[in-house]
Amino acid sequence: MRVPNCELCESEGGEILFRHPNYRIVRVMGIEGESYRGFCRVIWERHVKEMSDLTSDERGLFMDAVFRLEAMLRQTLHPDKINLASLGNLTPHLHWHVIPRFHDDATFPKPIWATVDTLKAPPAASSSSSSLSAPADSRAGFNVDWAETVRRAFQQ
Ligand SMILES: [Zn+2]
Repeated sequence: MRVPNCELCESEGGEILFRHPNYRIVRVMGIEGESYRGFCRVIWERHVKEMSDLTSDERGLFMDAVFRLEAMLRQTLHPDKINLASLGNLTPHLHWHVIPRFHDDATFPKPIWATVDTLKAPPAASSSSSSLSAPADSRAGFNVDWAETVRRAFQQ
């Protein structure tokens, strides 16, 4: 059921990677998605305030999706760490942030919500390697189409 004036009812909240009747998995877009490669959210469709408002089966379904997504992101992007977070103080949709973290990302090792004044500059393209024309994020694992891998895995 769509509720008027709810941000996550009126928009998907990102690029859809998988849609289940009870939840959706989206790729976070915009500056957050650009700053944190592989950043996804698993969003519960119904308005529910807390995890303890779900039935045991619903919690199992929800967390299974979160952990499958985590596993996919680990396999495709080889992050240094995965951050899982459920905050949602402003939206009535329970959602889990699944955030691959890399030692050289914008705020590592702080939470990604560290304030802007602590943001580091993105790593500069290396001029000493032979890959002069490659983009700055072309290190191992960064050219993998992780979003397509997630889509395919969840459709099986
Ligand atoms: Zn809503």
